[in-house]
Amino acid sequence: RGKRAFIAGVADDNGYGWAIAKSLAAAGAEILVGTWVPALNIFESSLRRGKFDESRKLPDGSLMEIAKVYPLDAVFDNPEAVPEDIKTNKRYAGASKWTVQEVAETVKQEFGSIDILVHSLANGPEVSKPLLETSRNGYLAAISASSYSFISLLRHFAPIINPGGATISLTYIASERTIPGYGGGMSSAKAALESDTRVLAFEAGRKHKIRVNTISAGPLRSRAAKAIGFIDMMIDYSSANAPLQKELSAEEVGSAAAFLASPLASAITGTVLYVDNGLHSMGVGV
Ligand code: NAD
Repeated sequence: RGKRAFIAGVADDNGYGWAIAKSLAAAGAEILVGTWVPALNIFESSLRRGKFDESRKLPDGSLMEIAKVYPLDAVFDNPEAVPEDIKTNKRYAGASKWTVQEVAETVKQEFGSIDILVHSLANGPEVSKPLLETSRNGYLAAISASSYSFISLLRHFAPIINPGGATISLTYIASERTIPGYGGGMSSAKAALESDTRVLAFEAGRKHKIRVNTISAGPLRSRAAKAIGFIDMMIDYSSANAPLQKELSAEEVGSAAAFLASPLASAITGTVLYVDNGLHSMGVGV
């Protein structure tokens, strides 16, 4: 049987989630995606209207099929956790069953089980503020959307991930080295995500025989990265200073994710894998 993957955090064809979906599809996996509720309508209508057809092309010439797009807001674990202002928010009105618990239940009903879980989402409402200026609420929101969201996804999906399965999240070097501009507690959120990768690798490995790894990716001009505001500078910095002087493509991260999700990586868990043209290994700019 082919493998089945659920990729949380795909809302267009520019980000790492889309590229990971493509690599897994090219390797023969069935693809399910979780799309942030406020971005769902535009993503689904763009898919339907063929706007992504060019970027759906796989190496064999066929087009990636997405078996199902699930609305998801990974900040909410179950319906009881959803506050009134979100329930009545127009951007959430058309969708239902989008909390983490409900999405996992629906995937179980509709597909039974999965083999691969990918977390490719982050959000920090105060990302443009220095950590020193970040509010408590902004900090906690960054951790909730970018770190706890992985714990929640893993907890709710683990029972339907087949033994031998793999989970992958995306992190950034700002967790361990100071990157001015990556503020609002996002650096803290990535540090938590990396630490949690180790602890959850132990817990989910023992309990469910599944692997937990994270990819520390170099800079990519995604929608989320453009919102932070310094992405072009980071890409230029990397081209100037990384061991490999080429722009990083989302496909390179997609390929690394396909490797980590495959039996080729069956003894790899609890790791941070750098896919960044080697920039993390430099101590000074050149
Ligand atoms: P992206 O915009 O393609 O992906 C982020 C996704 O998160 C979006 O689809 C957004 O709708 C979704 N999202 C936000 N809040 C959500 C929520 N509460 N529930 C569900 N979905 C939600 O951008 P990307 O840069 O590809 O980001 C993917 C991952 O890669 C993130 O974890 C990001 O931190 C990480 N990363 C990105 C870079 C980079 O330079 N772009 C570098 C290293 C790591």
